[in-house]
Amino acid sequence: MNQRIQRVRGMQDVLPGEVWKWRYVEQGLMHITAAFGYQEIRTPVLELAELFIRSVGETTDIVGKEMYVFEDRGGDILSLRPEMTASIVRAVIENHLLQQQPIARLWYYGPMFRRERPQKGRYRQFHQYGAEVVGSPHPESDVEIISMAWQLLQHFGLSQLELRINTLGNSETQQRYRAALVAYLEPHKDQLSPESQARLVTNPLRILDSKNEQDRAIVEQAPKIVDFLDDESRAFFDTVLSLLDRLSIPYVVDPYLVRGLDYYRHTAFEIVSTALGAQNAVCGGGRYDGLAALLGGKPFPAVGFALGVERLLLVLEAEDRFPAKPPVAQVYIAAVGEAPMREVALMLASRLRAEHIPTTVDLLRRSVKGQLREANRYGVRLVVIVGEQEWQQGMVIVKDMASGEQKLVAEATLVQEVVRRLRQETNES
Ligand code: AMP
Repeated sequence: MNQRIQRVRGMQDVLPGEVWKWRYVEQGLMHITAAFGYQEIRTPVLELAELFIRSVGETTDIVGKEMYVFEDRGGDILSLRPEMTASIVRAVIENHLLQQQPIARLWYYGPMFRRERPQKGRYRQFHQYGAEVVGSPHPESDVEIISMAWQLLQHFGLSQLELRINTLGNSETQQRYRAALVAYLEPHKDQLSPESQARLVTNPLRILDSKNEQDRAIVEQAPKIVDFLDDESRAFFDTVLSLLDRLSIPYVVDPYLVRGLDYYRHTAFEIVSTALGAQNAVCGGGRYDGLAALLGGKPFPAVGFALGVERLLLVLEAEDRFPAKPPVAQVYIAAVGEAPMREVALMLASRLRAEHIPTTVDLLRRSVKGQLREANRYGVRLVVIVGEQEWQQGMVIVKDMASGEQKLVAEATLVQEVVRRLRQETNES
């Protein structure tokens, strides 16, 4: 026998029994997105690797270690996208979106790829939903983005969430702070973890969010960015916080929440779930005013977030927030006996489907008992039993699966009767 081929490590099959949960989440996301008036944007899964090398940055794990990069047959160096902000900024520049309008509010949804070490909540193909406001330098847009992320999660009835927020200030603030941080860390260099020692040169801000115990002890005494904010940066942050207060969105200021790269400005935030374990970040975002120029465009301000859909599914599971599983179909048509009644079953199913009533028939030529068992498993509300005797009189049996009650119904009124019964039950429930 041939050897079985397995799926790629860290990538998941979403099986029929689970897809409804994805649909539920996707519909909820769309619902809130619509309330904010954002427009969808779709970009290719493959981009030139250079896009992410320049934007996400070579010093980050994402580009340095995790990106799926390959040379295609034409010699181009391509990458599966590890995130989508860079693609969106590229698309905004390339398609002159900000020449047609001064501001664009965009959302996206799709698979991202990072070759991380797989564990619960961390996969090599995962999905992000995200939103970006491009074109506005004002703190109201940061707050719109944060409140959108917050409301998306509230929509699902989640309670164990925490919004953490920090500011990175403007680029002058960052330069002064980075210099002060490096000056403080240099004398402690030998006590830092090897990873943080390397970052001292490449990306010192990221040392602040190191999970290493010893790094943390050193970082706690480090200068804090809030003490380096100039008036503009201070005012920006104060406005963001006071607007969050006005919208009654609770937050915790976390001085160690950072983004390592130069093009990030002002707001950085994440939303974590206390219902999750190690991989507890559901959503992360911030302002990235310097990115467009880095990608060769005319500079424009922008702020956005990305939300991990697999993480959201895990939180919904942990907080037990999924609704009841929807039935596979509403009606099952069971045929008694041989071919003639099975043909009638197909014909009746076709009639119900034409009225958009989700209907299933037996395809395995099973006994009535077997068919009823399948109907039960599918969670249908009604079974229509087509038997020879009844059919000769132009009748079928309609069985209500909840009450067990059965009733003879004339073929001519079947569609009407089914619609009435389904509607009745919907109203009752
Ligand atoms: P990032 O683009 O790294 O800021 O990530 C934004 C969000 O995407 C995180 O808060 C997670 O919810 C999710 N995420 C990032 N990496 C992964 C991964 N490897 N597997 C699953 N979700 C992820």
